[in-house]
Amino acid sequence: MRPDVADERSVVILGSGPAGLTAALYAARAQLRPLVLKGIDAGGQLMLTTEVENYPGFPDAVLGPDLMERMDKQAARFEAELLHQAATRLDLSSRPFGVWAGDEEWRARTLIVATGASAKWLGVPGEATLRGRGVSSCATCDGFFFRGQELVVVGGGDSAMEEAIFLTRFATKVTVVHRRAELRASKIMQERAFANDKIEFAWNSVVEEVLGDGAVQAVRLRDVESGEERSLPAAGLFVAIGHTPNTSLLEGQLELRDGYVPVEEPTTRTAIPGLFAAGDVVDVIYRQAVTAAGMGCKAAMDAERFLETQGH
Ligand code: NAP
Repeated sequence: MRPDVADERSVVILGSGPAGLTAALYAARAQLRPLVLKGIDAGGQLMLTTEVENYPGFPDAVLGPDLMERMDKQAARFEAELLHQAATRLDLSSRPFGVWAGDEEWRARTLIVATGASAKWLGVPGEATLRGRGVSSCATCDGFFFRGQELVVVGGGDSAMEEAIFLTRFATKVTVVHRRAELRASKIMQERAFANDKIEFAWNSVVEEVLGDGAVQAVRLRDVESGEERSLPAAGLFVAIGHTPNTSLLEGQLELRDGYVPVEEPTTRTAIPGLFAAGDVVDVIYRQAVTAAGMGCKAAMDAERFLETQGH
């Protein structure tokens, strides 16, 4: 047993995207008074989106940040305690688990990990040095700065299509660079991108280098079939090639699968009793706001059941 110094909670939730805040709502309504450490990027990836058209209940769409604000308020209404702090360390070796945010410590009878995922980068020369100087992973954050310019988006998924379409509000031309000749994006997003006359595609192509002195001026592309290289002038490069789950706090304490947290489907139970996971840290397939919210609900109910079996 740890010395009785830290504040002990029935449910601690890490993360404040749709999974974390839905878990908070359910746990709060079950009168478990959950503590939510919202994390550095509070609100998660929906904070970086514009219109969300596929979250049920919003026939006229809702802005990502507005949706997250509503979820936050809804959880707070039922007495979830939401702190603008990020967990910096976990001790999962015994229960109650240890949870730290800097010097502050809590103990958690159950812990729900809903820390989401972060944007992946290409790892090519010039990308890191020119980040914030034309290299970005967030069109809604940075698109405005590229009025009247030509841009490049890398990726073939829904995110890449969404970014490309959004960027045509500002750019004169957006070239989508995709490593294959077929998109991964959903049909509706593909159709919208194909119908947009400001969007061009560089198929079977990869970015080999980001070129520019102090700011992005061009990207060097390579055709993966012919091996041919060419320079494509652009004032900005938007990387939309997917995400990596934010699970570094769990490393060495729980076996991860490609960085994701394995759960006993259809529950959110992990291999450690009392530890639950929900949202993009778990989901290798769907990764939707609504699926994350659904998993958050399951995690809170799983935690509640677990506490009951432990006599709490
Ligand atoms: P994704 O579906 O995993 O797509 C990633 C894309 O990047 C793929 O086309 C992939 O190519 C490419 N890629 C991956 N690594 C690469 C690399 N190193 N170099 C070059 N290209 C690389 O990721 P996402 O687009 O972020 O979407 C994630 C999830 O969120 C999906 O389930 C999506 O449906 C959802 N989402 C939905 C919406 C919406 O409905 N409006 C919007 C955004 C996201 P390959 O195709 O060759 O693998």
